[in-house]
Amino acid sequence: MKAFSIPSQYRWKSAKQYPSKYRQELHLALQRLAIPPNLPNQKLFKITTSAGKGQGWKALKDIQPGTPLLDEEALFWVPDDTTVDETFDRFEGFSTLSCPNPATPQRRFEVNSFAMGKDRRQKTRSGIFLLASRINHSCIPNAYCAWNSDLGKKGRLTVYAIVYIPKHAEILIDYCYPDSLKSRDQRHQGRSNYGFTCTCTACQSNTDSGTESQNSRQIMGNLESQIDQRVPQDNNEELTPRSIPTQ
Ligand SMILES: [Zn+2]
Repeated sequence: MKAFSIPSQYRWKSAKQYPSKYRQELHLALQRLAIPPNLPNQKLFKITTSAGKGQGWKALKDIQPGTPLLDEEALFWVPDDTTVDETFDRFEGFSTLSCPNPATPQRRFEVNSFAMGKDRRQKTRSGIFLLASRINHSCIPNAYCAWNSDLGKKGRLTVYAIVYIPKHAEILIDYCYPDSLKSRDQRHQGRSNYGFTCTCTACQSNTDSGTESQNSRQIMGNLESQIDQRVPQDNNEELTPRSIPTQ
């Protein structure tokens, strides 16, 4: 049987591959949606050495909330029950990623990989993205990272600014999501495999901002669990479209 293939003109391309008239349309569409008209091929960050953290991302210009910063294809991915051994070092760049001691390919994979949903056999999988893997963590992130299985031929990982990021600031994501609302100690526990101690203001226990953050997260966590309790477990009925009133 002939495999289904999407005609080339409908396949996703990187922004710089689009003819200029489409880029102009995209620019206008982003303006209409009040999203800053930056395209992923604009160089908005550089990878630099971050004090005490190894490599990290630094903003090259002032960045508005909602700005796309990156879309990236996986260097490789594996089902989550796979052991990543030395043979994976053949993927160029994988062995250069940071890893706490004792460093092994498996541990390097665990601390640098991103979840990618399920594969064709319905097994959860994770992959390595060389650029995104260099973003450091903060419990108060200024960027958000998401896997998009529908982007491109093989899916892509995207990174967006979620708040205003001034030029020269470090771009940071939250490694703990969705455990961000847990206490400081629980967040540290969840990150223990990464081999670093978060020094963001939310993790400074003896400061007003640290205490304020802790209290806010607790309130938000309680509200979230109340919402979970009130949302019907079987909500099929809720999702059935209502019939249009005749009068
Ligand atoms: Zn922190």
